[in-house]
Amino acid sequence: MLTGAWRATLWRLLGLVAAAAAIGAWFGRPALAALIVLAAWTALMLHRLHRLCRMLDSRALLRPAPGRDPWSRIGQHLAQRQRASRRTRRRLIEQLRSFRDAAAALPDGVVALDPERRIVWFNAAARDLLGLDPRHDGGAEITHLLRAPRVVQWFAEGAETPLTDVASPADDHVRLSLRSIPYADARSLLVARDISQLQRLEQVRRDFVANVSHELRTPLTVVHGYLDMIEPESLPEYEPILRELRLQSRRMTQIVEDLLTLSRLEAQQSTPDERVIMAALLESLRREGLALSQGRHSIVLERVGDRDLAGSTKDLHSAFSNLLSNAVRYTPDGGRIVLRWECDEDGGRMTVSDTGPGIPAQHLPRLTERFYRVSTSRSRESGGTGLGLSIVKHVLMLHQAHLEIHSEVGVGSRFVCVFGPERLLPAAPPQAS
Ligand code: ADP
Repeated sequence: MLTGAWRATLWRLLGLVAAAAAIGAWFGRPALAALIVLAAWTALMLHRLHRLCRMLDSRALLRPAPGRDPWSRIGQHLAQRQRASRRTRRRLIEQLRSFRDAAAALPDGVVALDPERRIVWFNAAARDLLGLDPRHDGGAEITHLLRAPRVVQWFAEGAETPLTDVASPADDHVRLSLRSIPYADARSLLVARDISQLQRLEQVRRDFVANVSHELRTPLTVVHGYLDMIEPESLPEYEPILRELRLQSRRMTQIVEDLLTLSRLEAQQSTPDERVIMAALLESLRREGLALSQGRHSIVLERVGDRDLAGSTKDLHSAFSNLLSNAVRYTPDGGRIVLRWECDEDGGRMTVSDTGPGIPAQHLPRLTERFYRVSTSRSRESGGTGLGLSIVKHVLMLHQAHLEIHSEVGVGSRFVCVFGPERLLPAAPPQAS
């Protein structure tokens, strides 16, 4: 469109110059006439260019002259583009505002951080939950404002997994869960959620389970005691019933004990850092295994590395002994069970492996849930409570360790307790006897 206008103008100029030259020839001065027309034309174009430049310099809305010459056409073209871009900008601003309004209305605290973790923007909930002040805190580094050592360390380690149970800097009673969500150009969103209510409910649940278990303990002890006093042989007609009653009351007592152990572990924030002498612990586990197995399995002890562990001897013993008793209970007679303790600079690994029936892969992720069983009848028959692996998981969590489960149906299972190197201690010198 603009090139057309330029071409038309060129033809018009050439026509004018030709006409001027023809008229000039009439008076014997064609060149002068053509020159005058060219000069007038140039002056007119300069005037229009000047008007266009002035219009562009002013930041107001462009109001181009209506002419058909290229300068007027350029002005009209620019005005059209300016109107379109203003419309787009208005639409974008509206969208941006509605995004901000939506983020501001979120019940979770949201803080936008730049790649250096400086605050770019935050919503009202972030102000209340994280104690941020809109007057001073924009542009501040987030770790200068959230200074709890756990939070600073979390950021330093990359903030990849959520951080739970952080006290709100604005109110100690409010507990937060923090998540960092990365987005374009190494920027991130810090999302703070108030989990106080959730934690209170969790506490109510824990208290309830602990109280019920505690309340059941006494009546069960009484029932168990009386049942133990009755000799089944003295009442032959009730013998099968009495044996079943004894079995079930023993099972109930074990469930209550396991629930109480779990409640205690859940309430615990940390473990005592005592020396767990692994040589002694392994030997005592082997003896327990042999007693439980009654010669039905071969139980082998392997010890690679002579480091001890820092933690709670009682809890670690209970965890390893749960794994061992599972291996004995689920492995058919004649099977082989290996207890292996190995350690190197990466940490320590306590493995209990067996040549039992193995566990189908789809059950593995849920095995440590309370009362989760692959086969309820087999677990009951073998005297299981369904809480053993839950206890193992909690004990390991308290030691910043984790459980790995490898199993193949028909081949066997391997339960590995993995401890970090910070939990390893040089082995204790042997006790003088
Ligand atoms: P339980 O008291 O039922 O044994 P656990 O929590 O100790 O409960 O174990 C959960 C389930 O995992 C068991 O019911 C059993 O199905 C399975 N399991 C645990 N250890 C083994 C093992 N060594 N071999 C085969 N299955 C196992």
